[in-house]
Amino acid sequence: RAKADGRNRHHFYSRALHGEIQRQQQLRHDLRAALDAGQFWLAYQPKVNPASGELLGAEALLRWNGPDGPVSPAMFIPVAEETGLIVPLGRWVLREACAQARRWSDDGHALPVSVNISAAQFGETGFLETVQEELRASGLSAHLLELEVTETILMRHVEHVQRNLAALRALGVQVSIDDFGTGYSSLSYLHEFPVTTLKIDRSFLAPGRSGPQATALITAIIGLGRALNLQVIAEGVEQPAQVRALLDLGCAAMQGYLFAPPLPPAAFEAWRRDWPAQHAALTAQA
Ligand code: C2E
Ligand code: MG
Ligand code: MG
Ligand code: MG
Repeated sequence: RAKADGRNRHHFYSRALHGEIQRQQQLRHDLRAALDAGQFWLAYQPKVNPASGELLGAEALLRWNGPDGPVSPAMFIPVAEETGLIVPLGRWVLREACAQARRWSDDGHALPVSVNISAAQFGETGFLETVQEELRASGLSAHLLELEVTETILMRHVEHVQRNLAALRALGVQVSIDDFGTGYSSLSYLHEFPVTTLKIDRSFLAPGRSGPQATALITAIIGLGRALNLQVIAEGVEQPAQVRALLDLGCAAMQGYLFAPPLPPAAFEAWRRDWPAQHAALTAQA
C-alpha cells in the first residue's frame, strides 16, 4: 500500500516536472523567436544632477513588444533568466546600448550608458570577453559604459566576482550596485568589491515609506557611500520634495519619473534638448 502510494506520488511528480520542462521550453522558444523577430528594443532613462542641471548618463531598459502588446520586464526577465535565454538576450542589450552610446558620442553629445546585468550573465565564463568584444565592435570608449549589477550577484561567488569586477574596472568600465539595500550583501565585504556607485533602491523613496525611518535608511546608505568613496544615486524620484530631501542629505545624482520616464531613443533626444528649460523650471519651483 505504502509502496503503491510512493509510486503514484513519483508518477505525479515526474508528470508535473515534465509539464514544467515543457512550459519552460515553450517560453524559451517564444523569447528566442521574439529576439529573432526584432521585437525587443531599448528605452533610455536619464540620470541627472538636479542641483547643477548636469546630465550624468542614461540607463538602458529592455522593452518587449509582444504579439499581444508590450510585456513588462518584470514578467519576461525572470523567464529569460530561468531558461538561460538571458545570455543571448543580455548580449543583444549590451550590443544595442553600446551602439547607441557610440552614436551619441559621434554626434558630439557623449553620455555614459548603463546596462543591467543578470546573475546568470555575470556568472558565465566568457562574460568579460563578451563585454570586451562589444566595446571593440561598437568602438565605444569603455568609460562610457556602466554595468548595473545586484547584491545577489556580488555575494554568490565572491572570488570570481572580485576578479571579474577588477578586470572590468581595469578596462575603464564603471560598475554600480543596483537596488542597493534590498539584497543581503554583507557590509564587511562591500569594500572588497571594486564598484564605483551605489544605487539606492526606489522602494526607500516610495510614498508609503517616507518618514523618519526611510530617511534614516537613506542617510545610512549615503554615509556608507561616502565612507567607501563611492558615488551614490537615488532611483525612483517622483516628487520635488524628494529632490530637496536628497540634496539636503548630500545625494545629488537622481533618476526618476519627475525628470523623465524611460524613453524611446528619439523621444530621449527630444527630452535632452528640452532638459535645460525643464531644469530651470524645477529650480524656480524649489
Ligand atoms: P531596475 O534596473 O532597478 O530599473 C528601474 C525600474 O524602475 C525600471 O522599471 C524603471 O522604468 C522604473 N522606474 C524609473 N523611474 C521610476 C519612478 O520614478 N517611479 C517608479 N515607480 N518606477 C520608476 P522597468 O523598466 O520595468 O524594469 C524593471 C527591472 O527589470 C529593472 O529594474 C531591471 O532589474 C530589469 N531589467 C530591465 N531591463 C533589463 C535588461 O536589459 N537586462 C536585465 N538583466 N534586466 C533588466
Ligand atoms: Mg537598473
Ligand atoms: Mg534599480
Ligand atoms: Mg529595481
